[in-house]
Order: sequence, then structure tokens, then C-alpha cells
Amino acid sequence: MNTLYLSAEDPKTPAIAANIIMQGGLVAIPTETVYGLGANGLDETAVAKIFEAKGRPQDNPLILHISGPEQIELFCHHIPQSAYDLAEKFWPGPLTMVLPARSIVPKRTTGNLDTVAVRCPDSDVTREIIRLSGVPLAAPSANISGKPSTTTAKHVKYDHDGRIDAIVDGGPCRVGVESTIIDLSGERPRLLRPGGITPEQLSEVLGEIEVDKAVTSQLGKDDVVRAPGMKYRHYAPTAPVVIVSGSREAAAQYIRAHFTPGDRVLCFEEELSLYEGCDPLSYGMEADVNTLSAGLFAALRELDDASIHQVYARCPVGGGVAYAVQNRLKKAAAFHVVDAEEEAK
Ligand code: AMP
Ligand code: MG
Repeated sequence: MNTLYLSAEDPKTPAIAANIIMQGGLVAIPTETVYGLGANGLDETAVAKIFEAKGRPQDNPLILHISGPEQIELFCHHIPQSAYDLAEKFWPGPLTMVLPARSIVPKRTTGNLDTVAVRCPDSDVTREIIRLSGVPLAAPSANISGKPSTTTAKHVKYDHDGRIDAIVDGGPCRVGVESTIIDLSGERPRLLRPGGITPEQLSEVLGEIEVDKAVTSQLGKDDVVRAPGMKYRHYAPTAPVVIVSGSREAAAQYIRAHFTPGDRVLCFEEELSLYEGCDPLSYGMEADVNTLSAGLFAALRELDDASIHQVYARCPVGGGVAYAVQNRLKKAAAFHVVDAEEEAK
């Protein structure tokens, strides 16, 4: 298959992409979070192609991308007022809501659940594609399953060139980590995945929220969970990753003492000089967590190289967007964290 390259700047792009979607094809779409691999979310055959292209487990549900809050009721029922309040405040934006699904949504899209995840992305070209195609776009991150997510069109080309119908290039993704997911289908709102909309921002609308076990710990293969996708290995380069926590100095001391040739260090821009000779890679500035979320996946992809033995990673602390970065990095590290200050005692 010849993969078409479409620029988000070209006024013809939305119509061409929408046409492919309507014919049951696969189009990689830019969003503010990561690039998605989109298909008609109401067409089982089209949705099956997403799973095939990504090598995605069948029980890992997809998010339906819609053009605005007025579409929620087309695909969901028993919608609490809080869903509309959240949509008004955070859409278009990096927030996904899980709600009871209407039967029009195929089981293949929901991973056999009776709920469905919906979100309205903050990308003009992608919302125009949704509007013109007249259907919601089911779209997971466009990476091959298990690998770091795609935050540029080049990442998508690397994973899927010749295997999907088209890629819409909208430049690098602004947020860089996937959407926040909040489950509103149960008795109390539950955070299934942290992202660009922070728990603090959600609590302003929802009051207290519960945090799913999948966010904070490694789940087993047979765990029954509310966020099915979260039990799978995620975001991981080939080499094992270990997070080294603690002060800048303690971490550098620990890493330098354990470093052997062939290892890599993933650190903050401010720390580069501490790792001279250790082949350090910066993914952003500790002083600006948005640069870390925007740079994380590109860095993890660069480290996805079979010749690397071990990755030592530095992780930001605190809440807000740092919480989402911690979550992705911990998943990449299979929750393997070493406290450099403890180790120094
Ligand atoms: P991604 O794999 O980045 O496309 O994100 C999709 C994730 O959203 C899945 O892995 C699930 O964890 C979550 N998700 C989607 N739909 C549902 C749902 N109905 N219930 C719970 N989690 C969902
Ligand atoms: Mg993904």
C-alpha cells in the first residue's frame, strides 16, 4: 500500500482524509496529545484494521474522537451533568470521558465493554476531518503496541509507512502525553489515566476523585480493571529502564557509579553537564514540566535501540502535568524505581 502524506496546512487535506475514513481506511491524525491512528469508529471492519496495524490486544478499547459536546449523546447514555461541565471547561482538549455506551458503538471499538471513551481533540484539521466524514473517529495512539507513543508525523511514518492509507502532518504534538481519562460511568468519578488535564483541574469541577490502581502500580495480566489497556506493557524501549530518584547530586553519583558503556542516561536539560561521558539525552527542562511531557516520547523512541543495555532515567516530582510524566515513565520502567539517597546511606 502507498501511504499518502497530507499536510494539515493544505486546504484539500480534510476532504481527502474524510473520504478515506468514509471508505473504511486508516488515517493517522494529529492531535494536541499524540498522533492517533484513526478509522470510522462505527465500522467494525475499519476498526479491526487499527488493531491489526498496531498489533493491539483485542480487549484494549479505543477512544472515540468527536467534534464537540453535542455528539456525546449520540454514542453515550446516562450522561451526568458533570460530563457537560467538564466538556465546557476542557474541550476541545486532552480530556477523555468514559460513559455508558449506546448500542450503535460496536463492541470491537469498546473492547467488549458496555462503556465507551469519548474526547474532542484540540486540532482544527482533525475536527474538520471528523465533521466532514460524519462519523466519530476511533483512534488509539499511532505507535506499534507497547512502544512509545507517536508525537510527530515522522514517528508515524517510521511505524506504519506502507501499512496505512494516509498520514496527516500537523507538526509536533503540543502536550506530548495521551489524554487524561476520567471514568464517569460508576458511582464516583475515577481517574484511569493522568494527562494534560490535571487531577487538580478535574477536582475543581468534580470534587473528590478516585484514582484507579492502574495509575499507580503494575497490573498483572489477569487483573480485572476499569482501564483495560493499562495492564499491558507500555511506552517501553527495548532496554530495561530504571528511574533514579533523589537529589540531582545523589542521582548523578548513583548513575555514574553504575554506568557501563552501552548504557544511556535520560535526564533533564539542567543535568546534562553532570553526565559527561555517559551519553546523556535530555527530554526537556525540569523547570518547565510542559517541555518534559512534550519531549518524553520522542526521547524514549530514540532510546528504543537494541544496542542499548540499560537506561537510567530522571523523573520530575510533584502533581499537575508532572503526575502524567511520572505515570508514563514508571510504565516504561515497569515501576522500577531506585532511590539514590537511600542507596547512598
Ligand atoms: P490509547 O491506547 O492511547 O488509545 O488509549 C486508549 C485507552 O483508553 C485504553 O488503553 C483504555 O485504557 C482506555 N479506555 C478506552 N475506552 C475505555 C473504556 N470504555 N473504559 C475504560 N477505559 C477505556
Ligand atoms: Mg497508546
